[in-house]
Amino acid sequence: MSSEVDAVVVGSGPNGLAAAVTLARAGLSVEVFEAQSTIGGGARTLDLGLAPGVTHDICSAVHPLAIASPFFAEFDLRARGMELTTPEISYAQPLDGKPAALAFHDLETTVDHLGEAGPEWRRFFAPLLERADDSVWLSLGDKRSVPPTLRDLPGLANVVKFGLRLLGQATPAWNVPLSHESTQALFTGVASHAIGGLPAMGTAATATMLSMLAHDVGWPSPVGGSQAIIDELVADLEAHGGRVHTDARIDHVADMPAARAYLLDTSALNAAQIFAGLLPAHVDKALRGFKNGNAAAKVDFVLDGPVPWADPAVGRAGTIHVGGSRAQMAAAEATVMSGRMPADPVCLVSDPTVFDPSREVNGLRPLWTYCHVPFDCPLDPTEYITGQIERFAPGFRDRIVAHNAIPASEMAGHNQNYIGGDIATGVVSFYRMMARPRTSWDNYSLGVPGAFLCSAATPPAPGVHGMNGWFAARRALKSRFGIDEAPSLAP
Ligand SMILES: Cc1cc2nc3c(=O)[nH]c(=O)nc-3n(C[C@H](O)[C@H](O)[C@H](O)COP(=O)(O)OP(=O)(O)OC[C@H]3O[C@@H](n4cnc5c(N)ncnc54)[C@H](O)[C@@H]3O)c2cc1C
Repeated sequence: MSSEVDAVVVGSGPNGLAAAVTLARAGLSVEVFEAQSTIGGGARTLDLGLAPGVTHDICSAVHPLAIASPFFAEFDLRARGMELTTPEISYAQPLDGKPAALAFHDLETTVDHLGEAGPEWRRFFAPLLERADDSVWLSLGDKRSVPPTLRDLPGLANVVKFGLRLLGQATPAWNVPLSHESTQALFTGVASHAIGGLPAMGTAATATMLSMLAHDVGWPSPVGGSQAIIDELVADLEAHGGRVHTDARIDHVADMPAARAYLLDTSALNAAQIFAGLLPAHVDKALRGFKNGNAAAKVDFVLDGPVPWADPAVGRAGTIHVGGSRAQMAAAEATVMSGRMPADPVCLVSDPTVFDPSREVNGLRPLWTYCHVPFDCPLDPTEYITGQIERFAPGFRDRIVAHNAIPASEMAGHNQNYIGGDIATGVVSFYRMMARPRTSWDNYSLGVPGAFLCSAATPPAPGVHGMNGWFAARRALKSRFGIDEAPSLAP
């Protein structure tokens, strides 16, 4: 490979493509190199061969951030014709022997449903919803610049509101603001998305933003699956002259065409390997030393009908957090953090047919599930997840027609960013949301002119929001091409 291009992007995950789109829209020639045979990294929808025509979201499935993130708000997937469906119930938390706790898209419906716990849920979220965009910017900013929505007094007041709520859920006093079993369990189910300590700052920050969005844009999914997001990004890239090469794994800088900028949608470790011998010693050491977090182990099921939830209302929710009460989930996550496999792991479940009938083919439907396990755990998660769902949906086992399991230790086989099943591409603590993958003023720079990291291993954090790629590309535009103003992303 020798021909010169303006910019090379390694990896076609949402962040790699967000970077590529930004660069191409600035008028640069852009080539994307993807190791896998399919495009999209953590946002792919694939036929796993389990049942004819049934497709599975092999990583991400639920996408509030693909609507609410500043990158996607400007890119505007809906205006490009992409259809998203938003379930009436954003997420549900089944509880042993009692009705499930439900978070409806509509806040007031949630408050009514929660009964005497409702007012504390309203007190927590209603003030944040007044300026939801501020909280999104606070969470998804680069942590190096003042986000545009925070430059006035109401914006600053929102920071205080957000911070107080976050702090309230990050300490052992977390049961004070949310004092009922239902609200505690609802919040903790969302906090568990960060696969970390409960309570802790990182998980509390994740939950405060995502739970708020459940009552704002909702928790939608693209019709047909996550791949639709990737298809829109690729279409825009190609419309601006960019190209994606699949089956093109990059192991060293010599594998890439000469370019003025290289943006790596890779793990921190892989970035150090690609630029081996070229990075300043302190950067190389920091990238190689960036710790992985705990892991996910995935099972994609094919069912011959809906999950028979004991509380039928759970079957109307887009996402189900399966783990029981706050105390039960905190104990399971603590066991994972100690490096052991809990008998009753926290599981995430989504049945897309509930809100997108197109996913059911000949009476068969996909069920998206994963559970939290220790880093690099080799255990087959099938029985753990089946057992946890059976706990709240007796008879679930009889609905299973086929399944495909991926232990954490094998997750990197379909995405080398997910070392040992760490789907966050590096530990997500509050500190590591600010300083990922290293402590630096410019977390996207690899310390070599023209080399940038743009994956979820940089700020703000993991998720399908494109922000890491957008921030890295804007730095590349400025420092390598003298382009100060970010190009418009509008359709
Ligand atoms: C099971 C699971 C469930 C999730 N659920 C959600 C969810 O519901 N909602 C949500 O918002 N997020 C979810 N996520 C997280 C989300 O998918 C990721 O945070 C997001 O995809 C990160 O995007 P990225 O572009 O940084 O990296 P990735 O999406 O991981 O993409 C990286 C790409 O780079 C390629 N690559 C890496 N190294 C090389 C190399 N050396 N050469 C060539 N190519 C390379 C990889 O093959 C991959 O395609 C989930 C993740 C998993 C695994």
